[in-house]
Amino acid sequence: MANDLLGRFKEELAPVDLLVPVQEGKKKVLPPHMTNRIVTIVGIKTVQSRFLPVSHEGESNETYVDKVELMGKVRAEFIARKMKGTERRSAMRLFRELTEDHGSGDGWQTTFNNWFDTKQPCRIPNALCTRCWNDSLFGSLEAGRGATFARIRYFDTFSFQDASECIASTASEEGIAIGNTVDEDLSQDRGSASLHYYEYVKAGTQFPFITVIESPTLLDVSGILNAIPAADSRGYGKYSASSGKFSTEIFTVSTGLPKFSILDMLEWADEDGGKTGIRHHFTGLKTSRFESHVREAVTLKPEDVDGLKAEIRGAFGEYAGRLG
Ligand SMILES: [Zn+2]
Repeated sequence: MANDLLGRFKEELAPVDLLVPVQEGKKKVLPPHMTNRIVTIVGIKTVQSRFLPVSHEGESNETYVDKVELMGKVRAEFIARKMKGTERRSAMRLFRELTEDHGSGDGWQTTFNNWFDTKQPCRIPNALCTRCWNDSLFGSLEAGRGATFARIRYFDTFSFQDASECIASTASEEGIAIGNTVDEDLSQDRGSASLHYYEYVKAGTQFPFITVIESPTLLDVSGILNAIPAADSRGYGKYSASSGKFSTEIFTVSTGLPKFSILDMLEWADEDGGKTGIRHHFTGLKTSRFESHVREAVTLKPEDVDGLKAEIRGAFGEYAGRLG
């Protein structure tokens, strides 16, 4: 009874009121989050085009992929901050579109300013309004300006595959990639300084992921489920939006905290044929892989996850109704 499961899941979510700013003195602020509800999203991301997971900015004309030695392999590393940053921007774009649908036809910005009593656009990451759906979920740590902590948690993750298989570098068959430098001066003759050498993670490389949302509302959960594929097609990579495209398979969305880690998922993949090995751990289980505080965890099946994703318009409509 798929529908029953989704219904039970939704009963475990936090109310949308949590996202509606309240008047405090002269300004509006987001209310504190007092629920102990948790939702966890689990899946794997597969690289579709060259991906440059690079956590440092540099002036050098050589770029190396982040990698670590872990559990018997050298693995490409996809840091949590990068995943969060890209999905945060995708979520913002998505909700701007939805805001337009609920506005008075003056464009999303006017509607946004009216809803959140702000004159500024909400700009990521340095000029956040601290009141909108995005800041409530992803946090807005601006001291003295109604800071809110993030309710969403990402984890650093690592490739299933060893660097020798999944990274193009000086040591690999493909060799290191060569591109133009970002700020190449086309009026000058080309020399070695106008070239840029970079390693990249190859298409087909897989990364498991776990995302945890505290005090999750239906808008948060359906929102992030829509933001993930939007981020995938836009790209998580460095230098250009076209690098680091992904496809994501979500194994499950569940209430409660995971009783496993990214390292466990890597172990399951190593033991038993990669993705299949992981999927195996989420199907046909007698005991839950998730831990809820009081009640038993409600763990959705893939078809219910699609249903949950489709709830976004309804959830946004309810939220807009409270704001307007
Ligand atoms: Zn904002």
